[in-house]
Amino acid sequence: MSHSDSAQFIAGYPLKAHNTFGFDVRAQFACRIEHEEQLMAAVRDPRAAGLPRLVLGGGSNVVLTGDFGGLVLLVALRGRQVVREDDEAWYVEAAGGEPWHEFVGWTLSQGMPGLENLALIPGTVGAAPIQNIGAYGLEMCERFASLRVVELATGEVVELDARACQFGYRDSFFKREGRDRFVITSVTFRLPKVWQPRAGYADLARALAVNDTAVGSPSESDGSQPSAQAIFDAVVAVRRAKLPDPLELGNAGSFFKNPVVDAAQFGALKLREPEVVSYPQPDGRVKLAAGWLIDRCGWKGRAMGAAAVHERQALVLVNRGGASGAEVLALAKAIQRDVLERFGVELDAEPVCL
Ligand code: NAP
Repeated sequence: MSHSDSAQFIAGYPLKAHNTFGFDVRAQFACRIEHEEQLMAAVRDPRAAGLPRLVLGGGSNVVLTGDFGGLVLLVALRGRQVVREDDEAWYVEAAGGEPWHEFVGWTLSQGMPGLENLALIPGTVGAAPIQNIGAYGLEMCERFASLRVVELATGEVVELDARACQFGYRDSFFKREGRDRFVITSVTFRLPKVWQPRAGYADLARALAVNDTAVGSPSESDGSQPSAQAIFDAVVAVRRAKLPDPLELGNAGSFFKNPVVDAAQFGALKLREPEVVSYPQPDGRVKLAAGWLIDRCGWKGRAMGAAAVHERQALVLVNRGGASGAEVLALAKAIQRDVLERFGVELDAEPVCL
């Protein structure tokens, strides 16, 4: 084993810069993983025997409620490349530690559109499949080909297809049976050569219309439909306007999933709350906008200690400075209770709470 493949353990490692809420907690041990071999060296190290493990990429979907008494694996695997191409698509592979947004920008710069609606989502490529990230009418699973994992118990490297990953709405096998068992070391995306813009979401359509009328705008392709770059730029602009930058105000993006209710429950709710924001699903159920429910309960902009609901986006909980994970969870519970009382709807948290 070469020196760079051995595991470098750091005791009492500060995690403040490794979770986007900015919680000031520590790990008993941390190990930076730059090569797949280091992963197995780390988990087989006697110091890690019997300890719980936590895999952190960008730390953008986790609530750390206290010090972590275990081994944190900081996934810093890098690299991206076109691995093959056929008449219909490009297949692009990226390592698990690649920053997601940079990777999306790179695919566009290579002339391979398809991921632009997912611009500016914080976190890493390896984290994207875990919750099947989605935004502005596109889910990652629609561009997914396969991924590679290392199974921590055995050290075995396995390739998994979409079926094995069991993708759902902000959900996958890795949030359920596969939880804590694997490290996603790389993901391969299938980017179709015939590209269609997806610009149906109201905020995105509005931003594109504004750009379209801007004199000399460089982002428009031929005037008839927006280019992938125009969509990328518009998504970035909309997200910047609405969502707090974790470097300025700690947060983990949407804190709650949009609840999906059956038609009967929706009918009863609509009678009581005629203005309820809703989106019918292909299976007959109805998706509710969690942000609207929270806003209606009066929570937008409200704080409990240093934890608060963001002023411009009720789905996002923020750390105004010095909040603990426990404070954020207490705020989340209060919101869940109010939404359940008023609407009879349960809100599930999106981030993993530890
Ligand atoms: P928004 O546009 O204010 O819409 C509120 C909710 O209604 C969204 O969550 C979205 O569901 C749904 N929605 C809006 N237009 C829709 C349409 N045409 N068809 C179906 N559903 C529609 O939402 P936002 O909070 O500003 O977020 C914009 C997009 O970015 C959304 O897709 C959102 O999921 C995504 N986002 C995700 C995170 C995260 O951490 N996961 C954080 C910020 C934003 P969907 O969520 O199913 O799209």
